[in-house]
Amino acid sequence: MAVPKRRTSKSRKNKRRTHIKLSVPGMVECSNCGEMKLSHRVCKECGSYKGEEVVSK
Ligand SMILES: [Zn+2]
Repeated sequence: MAVPKRRTSKSRKNKRRTHIKLSVPGMVECSNCGEMKLSHRVCKECGSYKGEEVVSK
């Protein structure tokens, strides 16, 4: 069976899969109140989506 020739160093091991948690996906500024919100979701600050209020607050 194939066996690794060199031991994986701590830094090399910690560099694995960093691309997964690099950034929070789809964060955009709300066009209504300017808060950071997830795109394609109703804004949780003002409850607006696509310029109209969907959830009353
Ligand atoms: Zn908003």
